[in-house]
Amino acid sequence: MTVYQQPGKDGAKVTFKPRYEHFIGGDWVAPVKGQYFEDITPITGQPFTEVGRGTAEDIEAALDAAWAAAPSWNATSPAERALMLNKIADRMEENLEAIAVAETWDNGKPVRESLNADIPLAIDHFRYFAGAIRAQEGHLSQLDVDTVAYHYHEPLGVVGQIIPWNFPILMAVWKLAPALAAGNCVVLKPAEQTPASILVLMDLIKDLIPDGVVNIVNGFGVECGKPLVSNKRIRKIAFTGETTTGRLIMQYASENIIPVTLELGGKSPNIFFEDVAAAKDGFYDKALEGFAFFALNQGEVCTCPSRALIQESIYDQFLADGIDRVSRIKAGNPLDTDTMIGAQASTDQLEKILSYLDIGKKEGAKVLIGGERAELDGDLGGGFYVQPTVFEGTNDMRIFQEEIFGPVLSVAKFSDYDQAISVANDTLYGLGAGVWARSGNIAYRAGRAIQAGRVWVNQYHSYPAHSAFGGYKSSGIGRENHLMMLDHYQQTKNLLVSYTETPQ
Ligand code: NAD
Repeated sequence: MTVYQQPGKDGAKVTFKPRYEHFIGGDWVAPVKGQYFEDITPITGQPFTEVGRGTAEDIEAALDAAWAAAPSWNATSPAERALMLNKIADRMEENLEAIAVAETWDNGKPVRESLNADIPLAIDHFRYFAGAIRAQEGHLSQLDVDTVAYHYHEPLGVVGQIIPWNFPILMAVWKLAPALAAGNCVVLKPAEQTPASILVLMDLIKDLIPDGVVNIVNGFGVECGKPLVSNKRIRKIAFTGETTTGRLIMQYASENIIPVTLELGGKSPNIFFEDVAAAKDGFYDKALEGFAFFALNQGEVCTCPSRALIQESIYDQFLADGIDRVSRIKAGNPLDTDTMIGAQASTDQLEKILSYLDIGKKEGAKVLIGGERAELDGDLGGGFYVQPTVFEGTNDMRIFQEEIFGPVLSVAKFSDYDQAISVANDTLYGLGAGVWARSGNIAYRAGRAIQAGRVWVNQYHSYPAHSAFGGYKSSGIGRENHLMMLDHYQQTKNLLVSYTETPQ
């Protein structure tokens, strides 16, 4: 067990600056209007740094820098871009603890996750796209003996990216790695709740990136995000956030016919078929772990398995074992490597979750465990903590239909395969889903029948760089991860050449 020291204290792995500017053109640049906002750590509820509050003027400055850098960056070879991505990955690996502690302090997530999942996944993402871009090839069609259609992948130029607060660094890297690999320059706006950890990362890697290729402008949604999305000088916008915001992003982008990729909300079903309980063995334990995964990252995951559907023949026993598993989720100081559930990212998010705990109770759902704010001791007493909560109810309740984005699980039973699939699909969303079954036949059929972009079978919450990720229905447009992501950051140039000297 390691308990990391709080940033700024003696022995800390990372110290934040008292103030951060925007990162534009390879340098720290003060916001044009001279305004800043506080960044609060959810671990104690106290401010720890202040960050430039961006406006349309700062977005213009970032776009100037990106456009100045674009001609040479767009023309770099895949090998050159891959080298840079690999160097960034190496630098991150050398500074793993500092980056992980910064991420935990900014967002509230347990350091065991930032150390073992978020940051290693981000590192691997850079390495994956370094390899993917070198392996990418164009196509050639021979139209007749003298006529050839060449198809080239060209970068879009300058792209905009907007990310949420639940995985600040990983979400940034999911977007930066493919965009840079494809040869684009980027203006990225982090979420206002978690603006600082990305700037700690930029401080560590900025000497590896040509000036203007990556620009970070912090600020609020309408004030800073909208001027980026509505801008004529971006060739694409990649957005991750709420479905309601995603609708606005499409509207803004439509003004200039800018392509969008949207990674939006979810209300993912996690289905446990009866043969899971055929024996109380390792498979059964793994399924119970899958049941308890709703609390990972405090439930602030777009794919949070927030609806557990359990077949009625095993319902009582499986649920009792599942609740026992949930009771053993260790809460506490997020900087302690033993802690499994940390702080919710912001006071607004805490309030939202608490309001859903009330809604669930008022709707008549039964609280099986948790159901309240969690009170911690000492300076953690000011932090934003919630007990992992399991409700029993029915799929028509608001707690089954609306994204809570907290450590809250809603459980219902189903009688047979058809009912399981119909309840699973009875949602606006279609991002993630889990299927647990020993029968390969049931697992396969259910996996294909669920309307979601990612269905985990006999596992949950793994995010390898080379698996496509994205939503069906209101959960989004396009995919992230996987080399198919490169398509979203490239345009096809077709050169149609006649080599004959005979008139056609
Ligand atoms: P949000 O939509 O409130 O904010 C996301 C980002 O959009 C922030 O940077 C914010 O400043 C910006 N923004 C807000 N309004 C804007 C506007 N009018 N114009 C331009 N930018 C604007 O979402 P959030 O609360 O930060 O994040 C949580 C949501 O993100 C959840 O719904 C979650 O499911 C979703 N999410 C999805 C994925 C995925 O891959 N599908 C991953 C993580 C989170």
